[in-house]
Amino acid sequence: MKPVYHRPLLKVSGEGLAGEQGSGLDPTIIQGTAEQLRDIHGLGVQLAVVVGGGNIIRGMQAASQGMDRATADYMGMLASVINGMALQSAVEQLGVETRVLTALEITEVAEPYIRRRAIRHLEKGRVVIFAGGTGNPYFTTDTGAALRAAEIHADVILKATQVDGVYDSDPSENPDATRYERLDFDEAIQKNLRFMDQTAIQLCRENGLPIVVFDMSAPGNIQKVILGEAVGTTVTD
Ligand code: UDP
Repeated sequence: MKPVYHRPLLKVSGEGLAGEQGSGLDPTIIQGTAEQLRDIHGLGVQLAVVVGGGNIIRGMQAASQGMDRATADYMGMLASVINGMALQSAVEQLGVETRVLTALEITEVAEPYIRRRAIRHLEKGRVVIFAGGTGNPYFTTDTGAALRAAEIHADVILKATQVDGVYDSDPSENPDATRYERLDFDEAIQKNLRFMDQTAIQLCRENGLPIVVFDMSAPGNIQKVILGEAVGTTVTD
């Protein structure tokens, strides 16, 4: 089987790297994620990754506890850089070349984001890890993922979550919740389905970028998505 995507962008949330403890970094999860990245890379695709920071700090939450919102958001962006570096280290130990590109300049630890350079790295077969979200407070790394995906002409966003797709209601609260196999952007927006924030969904819609929402903790799932098997929920026009 051949990959159906040529240049996928995978969005990994910070929470997804924290494991059961809910915050911080779980070395076993980082290792497992790195192995999955190596395996996807091995399928011959140009792999870009956007990493979140919610396992360390979320701006909105910190602001609700009294911190200045913009400051808290910048801290959240820095948190995603920490996660990106952890992933880089783990992936490189598996023998795959990577680059971390940050939206905020921290040149001692990572390259600044330069669009053409990012594309060049991908063409050379390096896994490109985008950190720092959009570089602006009041946004999320989901929006950063949509933005980078559009900029580098990714052909899909693979949104890794803890559930196996998008449901019509919360499956943890409603036992009758049903999963969508396919969904169109208009319905996702009208029904306010929150698998990504609305800004991110709008950006994908405007740019005709499909999103596949799937559970990355299920072994082999991500390869299945890349090979075009029906996994999770596909959101398209
Ligand atoms: N953030 C931001 N601008 C961005 C991306 C992220 O201000 O473009 C901040 C925001 O405070 C957010 C935090 O960084 O809560 C961590 O990112 P996010 O919540 O998207 O991480 P995830 O949920 O993917 O772990």
